[in-house]
Amino acid sequence: MPDRPRVLMCEPTYFGVEYVINPWMHGNVGNVSPDRANAQWQDLKALIERVADVELITPGPGLPDMCFTANGGMVFGSRFVPARFSVTQRKPESDLHRQWFAGAEVEVVELPSQSAFEGEGDALWWPGPNSAPLLWAGYGVRSDLEAHRDLAEAIRIEVVSLRLVDERFYHLDTCFLPLPDGRLMYFRDAFDQYSLAEIEKQTAPEQRLEIAAEDALRFACNAVRIGRTMIMNDASAELRARLEGWGYQTHTTPLDEFLKAGGAAKCLTLLLEQDGYSTEIESAPSPIRTTTVSMRGHLLEGNKLNAALEVIAGFGGSFEVEQLRAGERQDQTSDARIRIAATSEDRLRNILASMQGFSIEEVDPARDVVLRSVERAGVAPDDFYCSTIYRTEVFNNGRWHPVENQRMDGVIVLEPEGQGARCVLIRDLALADRVVCSGEGVRVHTPDLRKADREFRFMSSGVSSERRTEGQINEVALEMKRIRARGGKIVVVAGPVVIHTGGGPHLAEFIREGYVNALLSGNALPVHDIETNLFGTSLGVDLARGVGVHGGHQHHLRAINAVRKAGSIEAAVREGVVTAGVMYECVHADVPYVLAGSIRDDGPLPDTLMDLKVAQEAYAAAIRNADMILMLSSMLHAIGTGNMTPAGPHLVCVDISPAVVTKLADRGSVESTGIVTDVGLFLNVLARHLCV
Ligand code: NAD
Repeated sequence: MPDRPRVLMCEPTYFGVEYVINPWMHGNVGNVSPDRANAQWQDLKALIERVADVELITPGPGLPDMCFTANGGMVFGSRFVPARFSVTQRKPESDLHRQWFAGAEVEVVELPSQSAFEGEGDALWWPGPNSAPLLWAGYGVRSDLEAHRDLAEAIRIEVVSLRLVDERFYHLDTCFLPLPDGRLMYFRDAFDQYSLAEIEKQTAPEQRLEIAAEDALRFACNAVRIGRTMIMNDASAELRARLEGWGYQTHTTPLDEFLKAGGAAKCLTLLLEQDGYSTEIESAPSPIRTTTVSMRGHLLEGNKLNAALEVIAGFGGSFEVEQLRAGERQDQTSDARIRIAATSEDRLRNILASMQGFSIEEVDPARDVVLRSVERAGVAPDDFYCSTIYRTEVFNNGRWHPVENQRMDGVIVLEPEGQGARCVLIRDLALADRVVCSGEGVRVHTPDLRKADREFRFMSSGVSSERRTEGQINEVALEMKRIRARGGKIVVVAGPVVIHTGGGPHLAEFIREGYVNALLSGNALPVHDIETNLFGTSLGVDLARGVGVHGGHQHHLRAINAVRKAGSIEAAVREGVVTAGVMYECVHADVPYVLAGSIRDDGPLPDTLMDLKVAQEAYAAAIRNADMILMLSSMLHAIGTGNMTPAGPHLVCVDISPAVVTKLADRGSVESTGIVTDVGLFLNVLARHLCV
């Protein structure tokens, strides 16, 4: 390492706690002082600049955690491996890091698989001299074990995998600090027994500094070490004395604003040179092994599936539930296909032996898919494989093909060689299309069920339900601000209750303020929105006074007639017939809207699509690449949209009926939020948070 090494930092311009992705954030949403955070960051930077050169990456709007540069990736010599974040909220940071490193003429090396890898947060080089040339890597909370194998193979480096078992120490750099001369400092309770044995195998007792919980919780391990200087948030006098005994000068600088988000000194820096790293290192192939097992039975009864997953974790393994088909009735069995990774062949065999009680069977996932040709257009072969919302790959001719246009309740068609695979609806199947049948050779990437469970626990704290709703709405507002700031996409799906409950002006304001990128609805919302503009009523009820007006029942028909006379909603707005409201703002802000017809419709408005196939296609096109879909009190359109949405966008469903909310939140995705409340009230509170 040169005399003055370089580190990458990012000003905390947009820093804040705006979501909950680790236990530290819980209770701290909206609770950060930007001035204090900035002052603390400047103090840290000044301390680092005494011993290193700091380079800066420009922060991205809407990315409140981007100041934690350690998670953006990792530098190995002249190469940079960008992170593949496990949490949706941080995924856009990776591209900004890629651009920065490409601009700095550093070779950007992508990991071959889709496994999560959160950069230096979970990968720490053991610095020289006199340390074995290896990378300590964490898994179990954020990064995947399989990413360690990717790293070992892509960078040709020896990786020692350590499993994290305490969610407060969700990244390796929060509880582990490798030091030169084969030493390290760590917090024992953050690791499983196998990882502790690995640490003990690699180091002699006098080379290990075990820290107390009190220091671990102050993020003492999350220190920046450059040469003999160590900079950290805080440490006990005892720990400082021990480090000084090893020849380090310790400096503490308060970073408690960043601790609210679960980060401190190390998280705020990314090393641009690894002390002692050399491309000359010859490494053995990665010992990490994987296999796939199938499991069948009453898996959901008595939490049998969870118990099996606990066995894997208990032996230090990691897993991905690739497929889960739940029995729909009590007498029906369920089946699951689980991909297991372990740190060695022996460990993998131990896991499999301990799982025999669960009637598992090892399967070869890499068997070609079964393909059958369509014999009648619009009709699938009898045993067609039915698609889910999750990212899916199909195996054929020796490789996995990612499936495009992922959605549930579709079929998968494998195109001629080299053209990939795609999801289509049965009605769109053409003669001779090759349809994937049976489920053999299909790999589905479902979210980690236990991670989903953890997210749920963060959200369901002991606060009263009104406070919880208020908190949830605040989080939705913060996320909408972030998405708007980074130029993302928010789609609103809304029913006429929005207008009846007096929420129309708020929705109109969100459109005007640039928070809505597409509006999906039916005939009724625009009808009552325009009725309100023309007559001050919604379904004949005076919205200002909350009482029905004489002759009001005709108002919506007169509104429809006025639009029909103009020819379209847009024409009615441009001609000055419609002068305010949701549709008025859409026309003025150029926000596309799709209105899907139904049998209930009066009129309909000229813009309402009465051909349902056309309407479904227009909806599907409108939700493509959405970051958030906000569903407001329309069971019909919310469920219709949910059925065509792949996993990925954050679905927020607001309805007064718990059944509707549960139906949407039950898609098994961590990215769903259900809010049971009056939609008028919801929009009112959202406007308070959003439009101040
Ligand atoms: P829906 O029954 O599918 O959904 C209404 C939802 O609103 C329900 O889930 C209900 O629980 C919820 N809800 C009721 N009061 C609420 C409140 N105060 N706060 C929050 N949620 C509340 O009906 P929809 O989506 O309104 O209409 C279905 C279809 O019928 C649409 O295509 C619509 O355009 C059409 N429609 C047409 C007309 C017309 O043309 N005049 C009138 C009504 C509906």
